[in-house]
Amino acid sequence: MSDELFRLTIHEAAALLRQREISSVELTQAVLERIVAVDNAVKAYLSLMPEAALESAAEADRRLAAADDPASLPPLLGIPLAIKDVIQVAGAPTTCGSKMLEDFVAPYEATVIGKLRRAGAVLLGKTNTDEFAMGSSTENSAFVTTRNPWDLSRVPGGSSGGSAAAVAADECLAALGSDTGGSVRQPASLCGVVGIKPTYGRVSRYGLTAFASSLDQIGCLAKDVTDAAILLQAIAGHDPLDSTSMDAAVPDYVAALGLARSETGQSGGVELHGLRVGVPREYFIDGMQPAVQQAVTAAIDTLAALGAQVQEISLPHTQYALPVYYLIAPAEASANLARYDGVRYGLRHPDAQTMWEGFKLTRGAGFGPEVKRRIMLGAYALSAGYYDAYYLKAQQVRTLLKRDFDLAFQQVDVIACPVSPTTAFQVGEKADDPMSMYLADVFTLSLNLAGNCGLSVPCGFDPQGLPIGLQLIGPAFGESTILRAAYAYEQATDWRARRPVIGEQ
Ligand code: GLN
Repeated sequence: MSDELFRLTIHEAAALLRQREISSVELTQAVLERIVAVDNAVKAYLSLMPEAALESAAEADRRLAAADDPASLPPLLGIPLAIKDVIQVAGAPTTCGSKMLEDFVAPYEATVIGKLRRAGAVLLGKTNTDEFAMGSSTENSAFVTTRNPWDLSRVPGGSSGGSAAAVAADECLAALGSDTGGSVRQPASLCGVVGIKPTYGRVSRYGLTAFASSLDQIGCLAKDVTDAAILLQAIAGHDPLDSTSMDAAVPDYVAALGLARSETGQSGGVELHGLRVGVPREYFIDGMQPAVQQAVTAAIDTLAALGAQVQEISLPHTQYALPVYYLIAPAEASANLARYDGVRYGLRHPDAQTMWEGFKLTRGAGFGPEVKRRIMLGAYALSAGYYDAYYLKAQQVRTLLKRDFDLAFQQVDVIACPVSPTTAFQVGEKADDPMSMYLADVFTLSLNLAGNCGLSVPCGFDPQGLPIGLQLIGPAFGESTILRAAYAYEQATDWRARRPVIGEQ
């Protein structure tokens, strides 16, 4: 047994725990030591809860020891996980990467966290994020910029960059993130891990700090597709506390992976015979990094070799996704962030003499420049006289984007395309240019606007050795299909064999 327990996946660790080869306390300790060893360089975590983690681990070990049939225990029992710092864990800080909430301790718990606790997961700490999840690099965090474990001079992507980097650097076995316009898939792609954004309504948003409520969804970052399926299984499902969550049974996502297995299939027994894969011509654009285009094209060839029927499709309104998103998301953000007024939560500026002065000073000091930019853009788009021209128009075009997907999914089962037009960029490279930062999400925004699901699975490296992700998009509630396709692809390739080396760069 290797002493590098922190390198295990969830399913590997779960098997060893059940065989009593390792204990959850040993595993948790190994991951906490890994964090001490590398997080000064990676800076994935904003806060840690080692005592509580070791207590949960000891409790998991007791449950494992007492079980007559360990195989019947939940797969996350005793597994150390990280949580993006926009999700409320009762009694732990939830800063949202903002000075506004620097000293805020969550008085209640997100539904997903309750589910993880009941499954016996071990919560290690809260991971860095762009302020209120607005950004694509974690550079908008008020506290620290997380570094990409593959090259510490580069960003990990964002806004769930802390979670993606923590998974890539083996500082947790898997992590939760949130995805409003790409914030799970883009950092997963840039860090070489698997990231899934579920369908809007698949996972409860109760206890997720609201950024843009019609787009936000909690997602999973994991070392491989099986782990992503296990984690999604644990957090999915209807919640009466989130009226937008879907009251529908959750399929067995792990069992769905098995459908990709075939005794006669190629490439180690996995195949995708009969799966119809669409490649949208609008997702291969000028200015894309050639290595990304090559890796994604090669990955699509692999899907075809596994038996998928690949065809070109069109999502004709794709070019409008970026302007539509940057009207709707800031409009919703401007309303959601109105609650941070120095009265109810978080920062309260000490110098205020009057109520209005209190609002102005608190919001002026508490929010960073990107959040202020979004609030101004959103308030403008919603204001009388501009509402019809901007917000209403954007909602109409949003319907057209959704229709693009609806039509495409009449012809195909899965859409395959890039996640990000480039691999990880240098820290500072786009920090002063919001437009070029927004362009990092050009391939991920559409499906948040349409509400369907998508994932990123590693599909190669650029000449600098930086990871590239393949995006697989499914229809609403099509998670089983995209996970199955990603699993077959993963089994046919061995990108995970290459790991980042931290501290020797
Ligand atoms: N990068 C996008 C933005 O800045 C998406 C963020 C997200 O998905 N939370 O809004």
